[in-house]
Amino acid sequence: MASSKAHHATGLAAGIIAAALVTASARTGGAGIDLIAGVLALIGGMAGATAPDWLEVAWWTRRRKLWITHRTLTHWGIGWIALLALSYHFLGRHPAAPAAFGFACGGLMHLFADWPNPLGVPWIAGRHSLNLWTSGHCDLIIVAGAWAAALFVVDDVWFHHAYGRMLLGALRL
Ligand SMILES: [Zn+2]
Repeated sequence: MASSKAHHATGLAAGIIAAALVTASARTGGAGIDLIAGVLALIGGMAGATAPDWLEVAWWTRRRKLWITHRTLTHWGIGWIALLALSYHFLGRHPAAPAAFGFACGGLMHLFADWPNPLGVPWIAGRHSLNLWTSGHCDLIIVAGAWAAALFVVDDVWFHHAYGRMLLGALRL
């Protein structure tokens, strides 16, 4: 796995992405409810980013052994994508949807963070690895990528590319 520090750092980015998307869906109605939905999505994203690892630990027992093999069902891409689609569908229709949507964004972010290292991630069936580096290495690249994605989404949704245009303008100088 990517280090837990990396999962936490990317989790915050995932939460921000989820919050931006939830408020952008504009189906919650009312700015106050939008804000609450956004905060729930943010918290969900942070919990979801570490979930694939803690979901496989039998934390209710004393020995805290894994109850399933590491990086199997809890790291299953289709499962997380299904949750993402389902929770998105229920945005504005069910009060738990924003948190679930955030949770799914966080989970997918976790999978992306685990993907490059040799053990890989079972996106569909069988593990696939980008085989770029071993665990804990190059966390900075993962974290930077997650934050770049978060900034892009936030700029798009909340600022309508105002900052992106500014950046492009600056690069042209
Ligand atoms: Zn993991």
